[in-house]
Amino acid sequence: MDIKRQKFLVFGLSKSGVAAAKFLLARGGEVHIYEELDSDKIRQNRAELIELGAKEAEGDRTGCDVLVLSPGVPINHPLAVEYKKLGKRVTGELELGALYLKAPVAAVTGTNGKTTVCKLVSEMLSAGGVKNVLCGNVGAPLTGEADRLGGDQVAVVEVSSFQLETAHLFTPHVACVLNLSPDHLDRHYTMENYAFLKKRILKNMRESETAVLNADDERVRAFAEGAKCRIVWFSAREKANGACISEGKLFLYGEEVCAESEINLGGIHNVENALAAMCIAREFGVKTAQMAAVLKGFKGVRHRNEFVRSVAGVNYYNDSKATNTAAALAAAQSMRAPTVIVLGGKDKGEDYVPLFEGLKATPVAGAVIVGECRYKMLDAAIACGYKNVTVTGDFAAAVKIAGMLAPRGGNVLLSPAAASFDQFSGYEERGEAFCKIVEAMYEEGEE
Ligand code: ADP
Repeated sequence: MDIKRQKFLVFGLSKSGVAAAKFLLARGGEVHIYEELDSDKIRQNRAELIELGAKEAEGDRTGCDVLVLSPGVPINHPLAVEYKKLGKRVTGELELGALYLKAPVAAVTGTNGKTTVCKLVSEMLSAGGVKNVLCGNVGAPLTGEADRLGGDQVAVVEVSSFQLETAHLFTPHVACVLNLSPDHLDRHYTMENYAFLKKRILKNMRESETAVLNADDERVRAFAEGAKCRIVWFSAREKANGACISEGKLFLYGEEVCAESEINLGGIHNVENALAAMCIAREFGVKTAQMAAVLKGFKGVRHRNEFVRSVAGVNYYNDSKATNTAAALAAAQSMRAPTVIVLGGKDKGEDYVPLFEGLKATPVAGAVIVGECRYKMLDAAIACGYKNVTVTGDFAAAVKIAGMLAPRGGNVLLSPAAASFDQFSGYEERGEAFCKIVEAMYEEGEE
């Protein structure tokens, strides 16, 4: 793309939009900026970009050559549709960065586990002496790394379905698809469309590239059909050509890595994450002993099934990042004592019946439902014959009620299965609020 000779409209002025605009400005592009949201941060970003030479897009915004869409703006936004109708290019920050990047990309996508796997891969690469940078949703915008990273380094990139909406040329060296379950249906409408977008990650990959796929996930298994790259499978259930489990041990290409019990993360979902990370890291030459050391010492990621503390004999876990039903079910399955789950938040269009059906096979003995979607969840709980359910509109009350309902030696698990934006700025703020409430309960009990 000849940046100097083109006019760009960067739509969305959060982290990735700002990174894209700076990237284009630094290469002599004419950059126009546009944002429909307003906040102090956005005003600050706008001022910074104008200082660097960007122009505020006013009036008819369809006059640019290329539309750079932020992941927060859906591809069916009228402005994006207009650009497409005019036959113009619609792209995203990920695509721009990847086009100019010298370093190979290890991309991780899927509904759940992306951040955990990216962090595991990054630590494994470092343990193997391979320099790397975490990019995309989990780290730095890819455009920021385009000049910095050399060909001997690796960009470990967390890729969301939102980013894939504008990715057409993106060609990772290794791409992993972890799993696929209903999520973001308020934006993607159908599972077919969501799966179609996720599969796009493999579209340009050929024989010299590798897809790491989850053999246990039926929807992911179907990705192999028509794929033109090499495929490495991982499975926590059966033998697989890449990584699998046998008699409680993790194997990679037949070589033992470590025992399942040695992984410093709970739950079968994290075993899957470990298997995926091993397959990816091997593509860059990491040895099994180096992988094992990382798996044994991994500290986990904040707000992902994180133990907070015990209060009055009850253990509290913060899994605020579980914003869909599959994630909440995975966390519930990893509990080892009777558990009261705190559910609810902003609805993303999911059906909650499979959640309550699934919870029956876990140690979850009761639920406290909070947030905007609480009555939709309650209906699903009742439809599934769930009796031990309490509903409240107040988050702090929900945590305290869960604490009262949980037996001594039992757990309270915040794993909401919904987004946080009804009451919080994001899952981090919700997780922090949970930790604060738990700490306050502990301090009250101490006095
Ligand atoms: P992502 O970046 O895809 O959102 P995270 O690693 O941040 O994934 O984990 C988010 C939540 O998803 C965790 O809190 C956990 O409850 C759940 N989870 C993590 N890995 C998996 C997996 N492999 N399968 C199902 N659920 C998972």
